[in-house]
Amino acid sequence: MDEPTVDETAPAILLESHLAEVGGLPVFRALPQRGRRMVGAWCLLDRFGPINVTPQRTMTVGPHPHIGLHTVTWLLAGQVLHSDSLGTQQPIRPAQLNLMTAGAGVVHAEDSRGQAGGVLDGVQLWVAQPEATRHDPASFAHHSVLPVVDLGTALATVLIGTFDAAFSPAPVDSPLVGVDITGGGMVHLPLDPTFEHGIFVLHGAPRIAGSEASPNQLVYVGTGRAAVALDLGDGARVLLLGGRPFDEPIFMWWNFIARDRSEIAMAYADWQFKGRRFAPVASTLDRIEAPRPNWLP
Ligand code: MN
Repeated sequence: MDEPTVDETAPAILLESHLAEVGGLPVFRALPQRGRRMVGAWCLLDRFGPINVTPQRTMTVGPHPHIGLHTVTWLLAGQVLHSDSLGTQQPIRPAQLNLMTAGAGVVHAEDSRGQAGGVLDGVQLWVAQPEATRHDPASFAHHSVLPVVDLGTALATVLIGTFDAAFSPAPVDSPLVGVDITGGGMVHLPLDPTFEHGIFVLHGAPRIAGSEASPNQLVYVGTGRAAVALDLGDGARVLLLGGRPFDEPIFMWWNFIARDRSEIAMAYADWQFKGRRFAPVASTLDRIEAPRPNWLP
């Protein structure tokens, strides 16, 4: 039997999140960071929570625009109401996926004021759109049924792409995978060796490709692996992220992904001066103003 030409022993790189702030809540940002901007087309990874929700302390992200990216929202606890300029009003709860495609432009708001108490916890990720689709119209999809793969001592929910012959109904524009894995014990995750992969820790102290990791750390395992060993110990939860290395140089500024400064400046002006590109959102939250690009006079 032919052995695949893969390197299962390439060193895993442990990456720390840094603290950022979104809509008044602290977030742990694992991507982008110095030395690791992307994993495939995944280009932003924020962990919000866990927090105990109070009327004063909850997610209130007012209307703000995006271009050139998908947003992927995945909750571990609580609920968030998504509103957007396409007319969508969609509550999201754990085990459900929100996928918004910005394309040429969209506006959305995220509001947890409808959650009276309890815990709010989750992640929001961005996926850079490739040249072929990034100027297309915006769209939104909510997926309440996602495939779950039984790994024996753990369950794997496929958010995006294909994992172990199960595939997500959520379409994205480049070869990509995103899987929530929760359980205990040792599992071997089958991987596409043409993808690069990272594993982000949500709960517990798993051992990933031999490295012990803790919540909000991202373990980057590179390309060329057909599998990775994941020891979930007594109980852990992680997010497997992977994709074909993204070969288009992106320019990421504020909530926009483009290719150069002039495109960003146009999107900034369209938001600043309420141009036609960005339609209104039905939300009682205040719109979020963009900072002025520092290269503009
Ligand atoms: Mn957003």
